[in-house]
Amino acid sequence: MADIVLAALNAKYIHPAFGLRYLKANLGDLRDRTVLLEFDLNRRPVDIVEAILEHRPRVVGIGVYIWNATLATEVVQLLKTLRPAVKVVLGGPEVSYETDQQLIARRADHVICGEADLAFPRLARHLLDGQRPPHILSAPLPALHEVALPYEEYTDEDLAHRILYVEASRGCPFSCEFCLSSLDIPVRTFPLQPFLAALQRLMDRGARHFKFVDRTFNLNLAVARAILEFLLHRHREGRFYHFEMIPDRLPHELREIIRQFPPGTLQFEVGIQTFNPEVAARISRRQNYARLEENLHWLREHTGVHIHADLIAGLPGESVESFAAGFDRLVALRPHEIQFGILKRLRGTPIVRHDAEWGMIYNPLPPYEILENRLIDFPTMQRLRRFSRYWDLVANSGHFLETTPLLWAPNRSPFHSFLEWSDWLFARARRTDAIALPRLAEWLFEYLTRVRGHDPHEVAATLARDFARGGHRDPPPSVRPYVCGPSPAATAPGTAAPNARRQALHSSRDRSHSPASPTRTTVSEPGADKGDHA
Ligand code: SF4
Repeated sequence: MADIVLAALNAKYIHPAFGLRYLKANLGDLRDRTVLLEFDLNRRPVDIVEAILEHRPRVVGIGVYIWNATLATEVVQLLKTLRPAVKVVLGGPEVSYETDQQLIARRADHVICGEADLAFPRLARHLLDGQRPPHILSAPLPALHEVALPYEEYTDEDLAHRILYVEASRGCPFSCEFCLSSLDIPVRTFPLQPFLAALQRLMDRGARHFKFVDRTFNLNLAVARAILEFLLHRHREGRFYHFEMIPDRLPHELREIIRQFPPGTLQFEVGIQTFNPEVAARISRRQNYARLEENLHWLREHTGVHIHADLIAGLPGESVESFAAGFDRLVALRPHEIQFGILKRLRGTPIVRHDAEWGMIYNPLPPYEILENRLIDFPTMQRLRRFSRYWDLVANSGHFLETTPLLWAPNRSPFHSFLEWSDWLFARARRTDAIALPRLAEWLFEYLTRVRGHDPHEVAATLARDFARGGHRDPPPSVRPYVCGPSPAATAPGTAAPNARRQALHSSRDRSHSPASPTRTTVSEPGADKGDHA
């Protein structure tokens, strides 16, 4: 029995619910009357509702995000149909804007718009006291020093098997029009010492994989430096730290600390989004490209930081050729992964002001991806969508680190080379999901030897090395006859969390090869936890 159930519908098991842990931590004396239940998107709504109702709650809180909006709607409808007296409270970015237009908001008893860390406990108390609060509540921005930190809510199982989200600040000072964080001004910082003490406690409990969700970690240099120094001085083998960085801000004092981290321990996610200055200006994104390129060069040459760089296709005024030029420019900067995102129209974001002029047509259903615009028609957008998916499977996954560069065609840019392979692969597979690794390897082998005319023995040997690096003993059956001698010894990447494992694959190649040429970059899977494009 629990008076309050907080129900998290997570993208995957590995991504724990951060927001609901904040709510639980701030419930005060109601905390012991609360349970946090976590489900992933593969669970059936009826089973989720059964698990919630087993606790016989009076209040159910659900976090609604772009990735779970559809499932959450079904869960809320079932809950209210079965137990109308149970009060359902929604929060999260998806229901914080355009609230009255959403079915899920109409079915729920209450919706909290904005940061609910302190607003939810107040509301829950009122509901348990039998009061009748309004349907929609606008939460005032909480003072972060009043918010209880959620890190004790991570269980030992979380520490052992999941990514641990942490945050030193909230908000972003920039105004990129596609991004929800552009509405989140001003930037606010958690008191540093209690935050560091919480990190220390997590480390003492054995935490290894930290993901900072700060939108612009390197904005406040003093704080960024203090945190990096803290992590560096306490670093132990096996720990891994992910940050979102502004790519054109990497002054000397940060560089000095960053270069001291052992290879494979830091991952920087750098949002570039577009290399077209006109498009960037149109969507109010400020970026110094010269400094950005210099910083990425420096990171690649002087540090062991794993670089995950983001680009977005479909922005207003960005043609395929303009996007392709940006993609090739990014490939030449040799990030380890390129997240090729497709523009989404997130609720509440001002990107909609370009709809009429640029013919922006978005999917009305989550995740609201662009379907076509004035410069990119629907069939072409579909080709780009498939490119993005196959790029994840082939380049970003780390499974084909040496094979990927063989896809680059002579006298053709990386973008157009990969697009050609992507079109060929779709004609063969007719799908972009559920492609088994051995099957993908066989298609790569077929394409590279029959279409591109590479020597089968060379391709087979390359695939065999990639398979061995990934811990697989043998390449797929149709490739084996071309592999001379025994397969290279398998080197399993260990039991680290998936992001760290992928990074280990990328890093192992960095260590065992001369610096990659512009056409030898490798790249990976987008963060499933991210609903926006920060
Ligand atoms: S894209 Fe990044 S820099 Fe731009 S508003 Fe969002 S979080 Fe801030």
